This record gives sequence, C-alpha cells and structure tokens, in this order.
Amino acid sequence: MNGIESFEPAFRRLTELILDWNQRINVTAITDPVEFYNKNVLDSLELVGHGELESAKRVMDLGTGGGFPGLPLAIACPDKEFVLVDSVAKKLKVVRSVADELGLQNVTVIHARAEELAADPEFRENFDLVVSRAVANMSTLSEYCLPFVKAGGNFVAYKTMSAAEEIEAAANAVKKLGGAPAEIRPYSGSESGHCFAVVRKISATPKAYPRKGGQPRKSPL
Ligand code: SAH
Repeated sequence: MNGIESFEPAFRRLTELILDWNQRINVTAITDPVEFYNKNVLDSLELVGHGELESAKRVMDLGTGGGFPGLPLAIACPDKEFVLVDSVAKKLKVVRSVADELGLQNVTVIHARAEELAADPEFRENFDLVVSRAVANMSTLSEYCLPFVKAGGNFVAYKTMSAAEEIEAAANAVKKLGGAPAEIRPYSGSESGHCFAVVRKISATPKAYPRKGGQPRKSPL
C-alpha cells in the first residue's frame, strides 16, 4: 500500500490536520494516516460522480462528527455549499479549524440537534441533498434527514450491505416522511461491502416530524 506522500495534496493535508487535532480532541479512533485516508477520506468521496451529488447546489451533512463525509465532499466540490451539522460542539471546533486551514469557503458549521434545527425555515426543506454516515439506523436517520430535503431532492445514507434489512425495515418511516422507497446502491467497482441508501423526496414532510425529545431514536417510526 502506498504511503501518505501519494495522496492528492488537499486530502493529504486534511488527513494531517484531523489527525493532529485528534491528539487533543478525540474525533476518530483511527490514528494511522493510510488507514484514516482509506476508511474516512476515500469512503466519503465514493459519492462523487453520483447524480444526486452532481445535481445538488446546497448539501447538508447531518452528524458530521470530525467532518465526514462533509469535508472531503466540500474539497471535491468547491462550487457547492456544504452545511455540516452536529450536536457535539467540540467536534465542530475541529471541523471549523480544519475547514479554515484548508481555505474552504463553501463550508458552514452548525451546532444543533437535527430534531430542533428542522423547525428552522432557513433549513427545513431547503437542501437539494442531505448525506449522513454512521449516525443512526435508517428509520431514525430518515426522521433526522428527510425534513431538510426539498421536494425533488435526495437523502443519501452511507451504509454497509449488511444494513439491507435495516433499510428495508425503514420503508414505513421513509414513506411517512415524504420519501420514495429507498434504493440500495452498492459502491461502484468495489467489493467493499458498502452501499448508499438513496431516498428521493417526493412530498413534503408532515409538520409533526421530526419528533422531539429523542423520540426518533427511542421509538423509530
Ligand atoms: N459522520 C461522521 C461521524 C459519525 S459519529 C463519520 O462518519 O465519521 C455520529 C455523529 O452524529 C456524532 O458526532 C453525534 O454527535 C452526531 N449525532 C447523533 N445524533 C444527532 C442528532 N440528533 N443531531 C445532530 N447530530 C447528531
């Protein structure tokens, strides 16, 4: 396997900056740069080339943590606007610093819980695309993400093929929230066992959703 020297410069810098911050603020369990690059940076970039991303102008990454997939996508797509949301402020401090150090002008960082932010008209049904990785099961995640998607836009969850049943089980939730049935789309040309769950939004999300008080997680639709 090639070393870090072979990475494309902006993504190499991203890897170095995050791992440097990680020594002070824990945002990832992976500390080896090559492993970090493969599991976080390259994995995030898998969505590049897919129509849902290419056609989007305004993208949200819900539960971005240390900035994944949001930061790699923002580097790859400088003409799109990225809003990176997380409920844990210290992780966002890392994300903000790294975005500044990389000179990314297309990244906004928002400290909020999805359930509360979704009531804000500046955010609700205001995104062409909402992406999310490793945040919650598909039912819960649909309730967090679909309220932010415009009708005609998309919600894309980074999942593994082993989540196929979980994605299937979210069919009812997706429908109630205004989504078309999820398409499970394996990563192209790879045997990683990873996939995207792609949900097109076909009608407005009823005002009752997302429910407050941890309900989406405690009692998924
Ligand atoms: N997407 C990142 C981080 C995954 S960890 C990655 O793939 O590496 C899950 C993150 O989701 C955590 O940082 C957590 O704070 C955030 N999160 C969980 N529930 C949330 C909610 N309801 N609203 C906002 N952020 C949430």
